Amino acid sequence: MGVEVTSTTEQEIAPVQTPEPTQAASSWTIEDSEELYRINGWGDPYFSINAAGHVVVSPKGDRGGSLDLYELVEALKQRDIHLPFVIRFSDILADRLERLNACFSQAITRYNYPGIYQGVFPVKCNQHRQLVEDLVHFGQPFQFGLEAGSKPELLIALALLKTSNSLLICNGYKDKEYVETAILARRLDKQTIIVLEQLEEVELAIKAHQELGVTPVVGVRAKLSAKGEGRWATSTGDGAKFGLTIPEIVHVMERLQEANLLSSLQLLHFHVGSQISSISVIKDAIREASQIYVQLAKSGADMRYLDVGGGLGVDYDGSKTNFYASKNYNMQNYANDIVAEVKEACEQAKVKAPVLVSESGRAIASHQSVLIFDVLGTSEVLTQKAFEVESSDHLIIRNLWETYQFIQVNNYQECYHDAIQFKEEAISLFNFGYLSLSQRAKAEQLYWACCEKILDIIRHEPYVPDDLEGLQMSMASIYYVNLSVFQSAPDSWAIDQLFPIMPLHRLNEQPTCQGTLADLTCDSDGKITRFIDLRDVKSLLDLHPLNPGEPYYLGLFLGGSYQEIMGNLHNLFGDTNAVHIGLTPKGYQVKQVVKGDTMADVLSYVEYDIEDLIESIRQQTESALEEGTISIAESQRLLNSYKESLNRYTYLSVESYSASR
Ligand SMILES: *Cc1c(COP(=O)(O)O)cnc(C)c1O
Repeated sequence: MGVEVTSTTEQEIAPVQTPEPTQAASSWTIEDSEELYRINGWGDPYFSINAAGHVVVSPKGDRGGSLDLYELVEALKQRDIHLPFVIRFSDILADRLERLNACFSQAITRYNYPGIYQGVFPVKCNQHRQLVEDLVHFGQPFQFGLEAGSKPELLIALALLKTSNSLLICNGYKDKEYVETAILARRLDKQTIIVLEQLEEVELAIKAHQELGVTPVVGVRAKLSAKGEGRWATSTGDGAKFGLTIPEIVHVMERLQEANLLSSLQLLHFHVGSQISSISVIKDAIREASQIYVQLAKSGADMRYLDVGGGLGVDYDGSKTNFYASKNYNMQNYANDIVAEVKEACEQAKVKAPVLVSESGRAIASHQSVLIFDVLGTSEVLTQKAFEVESSDHLIIRNLWETYQFIQVNNYQECYHDAIQFKEEAISLFNFGYLSLSQRAKAEQLYWACCEKILDIIRHEPYVPDDLEGLQMSMASIYYVNLSVFQSAPDSWAIDQLFPIMPLHRLNEQPTCQGTLADLTCDSDGKITRFIDLRDVKSLLDLHPLNPGEPYYLGLFLGGSYQEIMGNLHNLFGDTNAVHIGLTPKGYQVKQVVKGDTMADVLSYVEYDIEDLIESIRQQTESALEEGTISIAESQRLLNSYKESLNRYTYLSVESYSASR
């Protein structure tokens, strides 16, 4: 392919042009986009690409009904719902829940397991009311329950969970009030189970039992010695924040025995961390936990439940590997391993098989939400501008021009170093006053033109020399997106988590640009520079050049867990709008629109009084009027726009943004 660069002779007379893309745009197919963005890997069975080159959502997976996501976004905009927004597909949530239960039910049949599965959803994963309500509703046929990790989450779970027999697992740090509330709730026929995670909690439970006269059901959270992995590796082992060591568990049993409550101990819980990428970690943990379980049962506790915690991973990059953004097993493998291990341990020990409980958050809630945002503009290196080099130009410019013309497959590395040297010399000359601003501009443009030409050669080379690796990065465009990473994808900033990100449309068109994403905040960390790839991570995302006057929509997928609640108000960009979509036989229904924060909302979070702010501006306009520095009309316009802004969304309105340019 590299041989095609020989057209330099033609370019010698022509003004500098960016080289044509070597692959004709028309030959690009949606299959190429599928491969590029790996949508079949991470998106299956919910997200795909249609013939129009748009992303399609099939909320019920392969069981019918799909929506064109691009058209949905257009339709929502017509309803005056502004970007950025999160779309939550409750049908996806239902499907995730059904799949998880189906996997356990299949495993139970396959291994002839003499017990049942009864999962719970950890509320901390996504506490939004509509989502938790939906979850409880969809979970009814499976007696699916909730897990609370704090007092406020317990309050949510107590009020919302009304499915009889479904479990309410009480985790996290507990005080007297927490324990009492959980115990008393048993009088409302709630199946609350207090999981003792700290040694003192057993005393709280005993005392509450004695004072209230209600018998609690308790569990113990074990610190396994089986190793976790990756980011959450320290969730197990001796240094873990939560859980009881084996000697501590023995102590708890003694204390319960003394209080005549040993039969209250019915559950064993462990949690090896979130996003477990490797099935072997899960196997090791379940093996150890099964042995602890049978020992507890044999020691006189009335054991009934084995709670395997969370950790069931999501394949963010679609690679099906044990890379941290992926997982090397599927939901069925996960269920099979748990069921088989527990069955074997119980059979050997002649202990009754427990009800299996899991606390999968990420695997249930991630897929249902899609974050959609638009691109405000791009930074492109100014190489396109045609210019001519004349004999009156400074020698350094003529040198750069010569270098540019000279670049070929067999000398690009040498030319690259020459170009760098000439550019640096040009800057020195400028600094000493020997080069004018326009001459420096010409020099820099020529330098970038050289880079562009070299880049076009190395794109087709099988091997790129080390010293040229940074070139691609430095020539990349920045796409400015209408979004706050801190608000909408905090894990991408905080823990380098990868999320699949791709355009929602133009997927039948070759994305000829490569870029990073920069958000609206004025924080240099407010950017996304790591993208999914088949192997490892890419630092640039393939994107389309913006078409003037046309919006360009990007979607961030699989962000339904943890992101929304951990988002923060950096630069006072508030909650985004959220839209709940349900499939209907005729199409879809906008079930609920949860308006994002207005500027007045975020200002009041940080204790500003809106009336005071308006009054301050009003007084300042009055003084200016008195001084004669503003007209009445101007002061009214300023005041009105100030007041109106307060009720507006904190994000940019792209329509007015592009109109004002
Ligand atoms: C966070 C957490 C979960 C959820 O983990 P996922 O990996 O999201 O499924 C479950 N149980 C406990 C105790 C947790 O702390």
